[in-house]
Amino acid sequence: MSTMLKRLIAWLVLLGVLVFAGQQWGYPAWQSWLTEREVARIEALKSLPLPVAAQPGRLDPDRMMQDLSWMAHPDRQGRESGQPGALATRHWLLEQYQQIGLQPAGVEGYLHEYEVQEHIQFSGVFRQRQRHIEAISNAANVLGSLPGKQAGLPYIAISAHYDHLGVRNGEVFHGADDNASGVAAMLELARYFAQHPTEHPLLFMALDSEEKGLQGAVALFRDQAIRPDQLAFNVNLDMLSRDTERQLFAVGTYQHPWLHPLLDRVQQQSSVRLIRAHDRPWWRAGRTENWVNSSDHGVFHRHGVPFIYFGVADHPDYHTPRDTSDRVDAEFYQAVSETVLDFILRLDQQLAAKAQR
Ligand SMILES: [Zn+2]
Repeated sequence: MSTMLKRLIAWLVLLGVLVFAGQQWGYPAWQSWLTEREVARIEALKSLPLPVAAQPGRLDPDRMMQDLSWMAHPDRQGRESGQPGALATRHWLLEQYQQIGLQPAGVEGYLHEYEVQEHIQFSGVFRQRQRHIEAISNAANVLGSLPGKQAGLPYIAISAHYDHLGVRNGEVFHGADDNASGVAAMLELARYFAQHPTEHPLLFMALDSEEKGLQGAVALFRDQAIRPDQLAFNVNLDMLSRDTERQLFAVGTYQHPWLHPLLDRVQQQSSVRLIRAHDRPWWRAGRTENWVNSSDHGVFHRHGVPFIYFGVADHPDYHTPRDTSDRVDAEFYQAVSETVLDFILRLDQQLAAKAQR
């Protein structure tokens, strides 16, 4: 090996050690600089003008609010995975799927049942953390599909988790925004698409155990209830129904930059502000929150399925007993759902055109 090469390797190793040390022991100045730069970028996006005042009403806002309120009702006891409230929700979802006319796409009918009993270790390059996943039995994902107009195309999968935190210290965590809102929007989208077929077949996935470490999505792939090659795309909906500044985050454009022009067109027809953020790695965004693994889309991403995640910023009632249906902003929620519908319609067209080429 030449001396030059040895020196180069030595420098690279030293650089690696410094970066590693920077991550491990307090963030150095450049991390703060990256963070400030990313925060400034997001703030600039938030101040862009909104082009549209009203959107077409293709979805039924009253029915969405009814569905949301049913799931967030105190009788559901916060829908903790494996508990009676989640079971009741699951049975209710089966009825909804049937009424909409979805085809069963689970392992047994609409259901993919699973159990979780393991300890899971997450390891990143710089961070290792152990996490104990609670044992769950009686958990199940609810899966239904609609055929597409074009034969042979893979599914566009629309996912939303229906479980929440249950009862803690005698208090019910209702989970209206998190995530009755995503599930009710998914149901309403299914009703729309049952009448207006897309090119791709659609897969509607009400997932369980998200709050216990994305275990419903993990089990889905582990048990091969679905294989990654059957999926063209994952649209994950988690928390859609309230934001005082009319902001909706779209996470995944860093991983899939081809979504930018598509989202530009969606934004032109939307009365909510789409903010593309929280998907950049630490070497781009410093300490700003990364949401790539914060909900079920993370599991799809790990299996190589292109994804987008739509959700609002955490609010003061997030993961508290105050996340109730009366605190939902019905008008904003409707606008968000119409925006998601618009996104799926355009995504379907764009991917189908690409598949034909
Ligand atoms: Zn959630």
